[in-house]
Amino acid sequence: MSSVFEVLHIGIDDIDSPSGGCTTHAAYRLVKELLHNFHDLRLIDYPNLVRLNPAVPFKTRGNGAVSIRVSVRRELIDRVVDLVAKFIERYVRSYEFRTDEDYAVAILMGEVPELLLNFYRKALTDFIHIDYLMRIIRSLGGRCIIPLGIRRGLIGALAAIGWFLKCDCTYELIAYRSAERLDPERCIDLESVKLMDNKFKNRTFLNFDYEENKLLIAPHGPDPVLLGIRGEDPSTLVEAFNTLKLCENVEGWMIFRTNQGTDAHLINRDLQNFKFLQTGCAKVLVESKPRILPGGDVILKVKSTPESESWSSLWVAVFKETGLTGAARELAKGDEIYVCGSMKYWSNLGLVLHLEKFAIMKLAEVTVVKNPKCPRCGARMKSSGRNKGWKCIKCGYRTKEAEKEVLYVRRKVKEGIYVPKDSAIKHLTKPAQRYGREKLCTPTEPKGKWIC
Ligand SMILES: [Zn+2]
Repeated sequence: MSSVFEVLHIGIDDIDSPSGGCTTHAAYRLVKELLHNFHDLRLIDYPNLVRLNPAVPFKTRGNGAVSIRVSVRRELIDRVVDLVAKFIERYVRSYEFRTDEDYAVAILMGEVPELLLNFYRKALTDFIHIDYLMRIIRSLGGRCIIPLGIRRGLIGALAAIGWFLKCDCTYELIAYRSAERLDPERCIDLESVKLMDNKFKNRTFLNFDYEENKLLIAPHGPDPVLLGIRGEDPSTLVEAFNTLKLCENVEGWMIFRTNQGTDAHLINRDLQNFKFLQTGCAKVLVESKPRILPGGDVILKVKSTPESESWSSLWVAVFKETGLTGAARELAKGDEIYVCGSMKYWSNLGLVLHLEKFAIMKLAEVTVVKNPKCPRCGARMKSSGRNKGWKCIKCGYRTKEAEKEVLYVRRKVKEGIYVPKDSAIKHLTKPAQRYGREKLCTPTEPKGKWIC
């Protein structure tokens, strides 16, 4: 006998515009409205905040889409769909979106098929052509409802539904400001954030930038987000949030399960198949001495390793704000490194990998050849001409019995992983604090306090 309940996966994306609004804020209000209107509706997972390929040119702030997965009585499906569509339309009207903006909603009934899991993987690491989107929509057929029509935002909405995988995850508690407060300064007591960071640093990440004495939990734009605390589990986030001293009113908050801080987009690629707008990592050899550009950014030429199937080379750009240029400029020809980032195109250089993080796997031996030392006084001797031996300028000693000396240069970098500094970490990038905290997550029904 089939169940009287059906699972609906509601994906939304691009619910933001220059005039305001934010996809997660819309999701927060939508969840509240769903819980308020349908008493036996249950969420089968925390709302998901799913970050997608940061390299694609069409994207919203932070490129984050949301999916809300609910279990609802079959006879209520039409009413739920109707509420979702009307809610989003009302939300975008309240922020005066233009009608040609990309906000989108997709609602999938039942199981999440393999093809949507793959669609998520592609939206995370690659560019999605609109034809591919249309093919996916056709394959889903009647199981997928698109109440607001076909828009570019459906890529994110469907990809967010497709993040239904057993993989590493983190959580974020996002608090929203009351509607009247929209100036970019958030009123949060810095000291209370430092105390919170100190108390919960083993279970949270990216709270405070001690180098710049700046908050990392608060955005800077005109959006409704007051702050977001990122961490490993929901209950720590609630505890951490409750210790903060806020001096402005909060509309409320909600906990999302997310792929943030997991390096999910940094998949292994072969250098020769690493294409424009893709994200990932490749094992390469440094081909020549790094070049330091005016301003301090570093570019280096790398090539495929000997064991790869075909040869190719490209440039890697290391930007100063990542804090990685100090190490990158010490690389030398022949170093074996693992580079991770997004592939961009520069008109003067062709494909350039914008480096997000890297690892030095094996340092090459760097040598310098020097003239022999004088056996009498220790100074470096000078050649007296081809086959004429050596002469010491300091003491006058002459000899034919000396050989040039090969010296190994002591390298200023070590083998190991190089992660950008906290202030330069992007949403998907795993920060230093999270190494060793990786875990396998599965969808989890929210419990305890998770929405306010
Ligand atoms: Zn000498």
